[in-house]
Amino acid sequence: RAKQTGGARTAFFETEMNRRAEARVQMENELRVAIQEGQIELHYQPRVDSRDDRIIGVEALARWMHPNRGIVPPDEFIGLAEECGLIEPLGKLVLDKACRQMAEWQRMGFDLGVVGVNISGHQLRSGRLRDYVREAIAANGIAPARLELEVTETMLVLDSDSGMAQLQAIRELGVKVAIDDFGTGYSSLAYLTRLPSDTLKIDRAFVIDLLEGDPAVEAVVRSIIAIARDLGKGVVAEGLESMEQVRMLGAWGCHVIQGYVYARPLTANGITGILLNGGIVTPAGTLESVAMP
Ligand code: C2E
Ligand code: MG
Ligand code: MG
Ligand code: MG
Repeated sequence: RAKQTGGARTAFFETEMNRRAEARVQMENELRVAIQEGQIELHYQPRVDSRDDRIIGVEALARWMHPNRGIVPPDEFIGLAEECGLIEPLGKLVLDKACRQMAEWQRMGFDLGVVGVNISGHQLRSGRLRDYVREAIAANGIAPARLELEVTETMLVLDSDSGMAQLQAIRELGVKVAIDDFGTGYSSLAYLTRLPSDTLKIDRAFVIDLLEGDPAVEAVVRSIIAIARDLGKGVVAEGLESMEQVRMLGAWGCHVIQGYVYARPLTANGITGILLNGGIVTPAGTLESVAMP
């Protein structure tokens, strides 16, 4: 009897595994088509200077406009793209779209500081990223310093030597580098001195915990801001959802804010609307009043 149950269970798991494997293959195929047929779009989340509520940049965030499933968020397809060899064409597409959009805003006469583009470790490893970056800025006619690649420290640590060399070569083009999700990786402080970067983005996890009033979290956040300042790097706080958080960070010297408190990621037209409005992003009183794109 026990054997029979075991057999049934094994059969169940096999069916379940087959089902998942099939779903995965289907999703892979769909993603390949999506990249070819232009279903990947970018939304842009404002980076705002909290001292005057002015937009000083955006982060480009990939969205899959799936024909049946609606908008698929990046957490559900970036990992897949990395695993099935699609991250390179996807990353190239994102880079090019972001640079083209920056050029478009430039043509409209707007000065929108910088566009942040997320880069996956696989893209750094391929060794071709520098060429893609150079092509994207040259083809679209934007100044290299208008582009800021966002990389995570975890990914740099995992592949330190070649990753660092690639990043350094890219920085030599004049392109900026931001360390995304700063503070959550495995790096030591000593490591920071070797890291080719211009900006630290404080991870949302710290910002969330700030409201709990934990003195240790406050100390860490203040230290990151101080380190950025002393190393001559910019600092951006991510994931802020309340004015209280904006005030805390401002008091500690971090004025560049990216979070729902100012705006969710918006369509390119949404950003154009802000620019037409003098570049002012009104902070939301409550999160509920922040419109979805
Ligand atoms: P990330 O680079 O750290 O981007 C910030 C994420 O935090 C975005 O999620 C953004 O919508 C979200 N966020 C910003 N402010 C708030 C807030 O106040 N509250 C909350 N709850 N969330 C906030 P999103 O767009 O879902 O992207 C998730 C991650 O996917 C990104 O994290 C990035 O690691 C990755 N990603 C997105 N686009 C790309 C891409 O084109 N290429 C690669 N390689 N990765 C990408
Ligand atoms: Mg990012
Ligand atoms: Mg981040
Ligand atoms: Mg992240």
